[in-house]
Amino acid sequence: MNLQSNSEKVGISFDVHKIREDFPILKTKVRGKPLVYFDNAATTQKPRQVIERIKKYYEEENSNVHRGVHFLSEVATREYEAARETIRKFINAESTEEIIFTKGTTEAINLIANSFGKTFINENDEIIISEMEHHSNIVPWQLLREERKAIINVIPFDDNGDLILDDFEKIFNERTKLVSIVHVSNSLGTVNPIKKIIEIAHSFAVPVLIDGAQSIMHNKIDVQDLGCDFFVFSGHKIYGPTGIGVLYGKRDLLEQMKPYQGGGDMIRSVTFQKTTYNDLPYKFEAGTPNIEGAIGLMASIEYLNGIGIDQIASYENELLNYATEKISQIPQVKIIGTAKEKGPIISFVLENIHPHDIGTILDYEGIALRTGHHCTQPVMEHFKIPATTRASFSFYNTKEEIDLLIQGIQKVIKVFS
Ligand code: PLP
Repeated sequence: MNLQSNSEKVGISFDVHKIREDFPILKTKVRGKPLVYFDNAATTQKPRQVIERIKKYYEEENSNVHRGVHFLSEVATREYEAARETIRKFINAESTEEIIFTKGTTEAINLIANSFGKTFINENDEIIISEMEHHSNIVPWQLLREERKAIINVIPFDDNGDLILDDFEKIFNERTKLVSIVHVSNSLGTVNPIKKIIEIAHSFAVPVLIDGAQSIMHNKIDVQDLGCDFFVFSGHKIYGPTGIGVLYGKRDLLEQMKPYQGGGDMIRSVTFQKTTYNDLPYKFEAGTPNIEGAIGLMASIEYLNGIGIDQIASYENELLNYATEKISQIPQVKIIGTAKEKGPIISFVLENIHPHDIGTILDYEGIALRTGHHCTQPVMEHFKIPATTRASFSFYNTKEEIDLLIQGIQKVIKVFS
């Protein structure tokens, strides 16, 4: 893709208008207005390359994987495994055995809570999470807590949304079995210092799970450089299909962990007396997988590689800075989440106006925002608010769209004044 253009140069050669051509849905009109899609943290739009790759799979390659000797089954298996290799390279895992396909981030965390949990966590063992976790990184641990009588410790954050790590080392003891932490908060935008967290946890020989649902599409992820033991993300947040996600796990841990689900593909042999399990990664992939999803995810990663994740990160950072500056100029707005380092997410509240009213009025301007607790009720509780309005940006968004958002917010204030 040629990114040389003068249309929107943001310190780098990045032709956002050309990129937008790849996303058919961005041409949609909403209530007669051009769609402004700022709900990217909830899910991203799909480029034509992904849509067409999925279509090709169903038109030319559809078959079940791993179980057939016939031509189509071999093609489907080859493409499914090529997807695994594409993901391995993308996050720099050592081996494809460490790449397990799941339904998404939520299923990946549940898999770890069930499998790692049942293998390694016993009564009074401790798990560390943070106050800014998505519910999907809270509830699976609570379910485990109920079952195993384990203990959950929570790292707090300050009013900017930065984790308070001063006492982090003090939480560890010989019963600490896992740290499970979000990389980028979906409601505050905070980028957590995960490398430091991993280093500290490892100094106590405690493994670390990183919830990368909001970081995988904005940052270069190198799991070996990070040293994390698990890293999880969802395909649909990285311009791929829904219903597919990835669990990266270090091989030695995965090998020790019990299977999560039983069924086809995850076994080596079955008798009524005894079943032996398949090798990694298949041990954790029971049943027919989401073949189309894996192949679509491969296409989305190839698409992002074509642009360059560093280019994407710089441009999205420009959008974040631009939007933060503009929104901060509106006196009635309070930004929730002003951490030192942020992903392209702005949550805000407007004095005396409920976020759902803001979202509804802006929807009439064609602007798609998310309002609510964003599956982070403890974050809302911290700020004593019921909800926020959240704008989350992607590399296909423009500064002109941010200007429309600012005009929209001013309109909301006018309506309610
Ligand atoms: N973790 C974070 C930080 C998220 O933002 C989300 C989704 O918004 C999830 C986990 C859950 O992802 P999914 O619903 O794709 O499983």
